Amino acid sequence: MNEKQGYCITTKCFRLRCSHPEWLASTQDFYNRIEKFYYDLYLNHEELWEKNSQESLRFLEMLSLPGKEKRVPERALPWEDVPTYFRRAAANAGIAAAKSHLSRGKNSYVTQAVKLNSSVVYYSRMYRDFSSREITLKVWDGQFWKWMRCRLYGEELPANGQPMSPSVTAEGEFFMLHVPVKEPVPDASSVKERMKAGKNICALQFTNGDAFAVASICDKDGQERAVRFFGGGREYAHHCRRILEKIEKSRESLGDSPQGQVNRKYWNHLKNLTDYHAHRVSREIIRFCEEYQAGVIALPRYNEEYSRRVMIGAGNWSPLHLSTRIRNFLQYKGWKAGIIVIEVHAAGTGSVCARCGGKIIREDEEAKEFFCEAGHRGNKYLNAARNLAVKCRGQFEK
Ligand SMILES: [Zn+2]
Repeated sequence: MNEKQGYCITTKCFRLRCSHPEWLASTQDFYNRIEKFYYDLYLNHEELWEKNSQESLRFLEMLSLPGKEKRVPERALPWEDVPTYFRRAAANAGIAAAKSHLSRGKNSYVTQAVKLNSSVVYYSRMYRDFSSREITLKVWDGQFWKWMRCRLYGEELPANGQPMSPSVTAEGEFFMLHVPVKEPVPDASSVKERMKAGKNICALQFTNGDAFAVASICDKDGQERAVRFFGGGREYAHHCRRILEKIEKSRESLGDSPQGQVNRKYWNHLKNLTDYHAHRVSREIIRFCEEYQAGVIALPRYNEEYSRRVMIGAGNWSPLHLSTRIRNFLQYKGWKAGIIVIEVHAAGTGSVCARCGGKIIREDEEAKEFFCEAGHRGNKYLNAARNLAVKCRGQFEK
């Protein structure tokens, strides 16, 4: 097939085990000292602030490294024999930290004791023998550079992915290896091209009931291929309520201390629950799209004022409130699966019957039902999703 190739980057995580974790720590420390050196150097040279990172790096290297014919650098790097790729990674981290410092509106640079702690990024030549099971890193033991073999525990690197520079971070008592992986996505053609090619559309509607979302798949002739409700909303809302009650109770008995251990535990619980459902629902939607070969997901877009009001009405920790996260997750999960996510204005999708186009004359809020002037009735959210699919198709056919 004549499909365009696109890419997406995701980060894979591994637990890292090695014989000398203290060398990872000393490498980290050295890295941060070089980072700080370049951070200061960058901030002291205002003429760099408008330049991009690559130009800045080149300029800083000029300032800090001896050039050809023994040119004496203006501000020599105070360490010798630092591997080029190690120094460069640390310098880039320093530039990034300085840029972020400036972007926070701190124009005046005061030499204060800023502690930089960026994770060590291992550029090429700083690592070798890399697979899903092991990696050999070039580390600083405080005196010498050494190659250290490390075991990795975690996911498999995707077979068709291209791993990029990994980084090591200390998380609690463990060291983790984070690896950005560039993977090809199955289809990177535009929405227009997909519509032309006759791909199916999956239109969604989010609800505050048991269904987080309702989906309708519409083919190139405007015929409906499948319908699905993505449930679990009631259970989610119930769980959230129970946790919130516990938070309320602990507040009553322990006083107002949201930072308290107990409260933090509950808030984490709430966050995990929310993440879990947003991931689950978005994953199920993508799978549904794959099952029915939908190349485009159409999400309803509302006026800002309207959606603000609806969200307030639905309340925090409600199924509808979760739709914001589901939308975000769909964007990147869809892209990875070769599905484009777009927004289509929802105006009109709730006021007519998808079956006959007739006006909706009555709605039963309790049963979430609509009644049209021709006597059709059904789920109002599904009806809106069906109308959205047709509207989406119509917009691109013009
Ligand atoms: Zn009707």
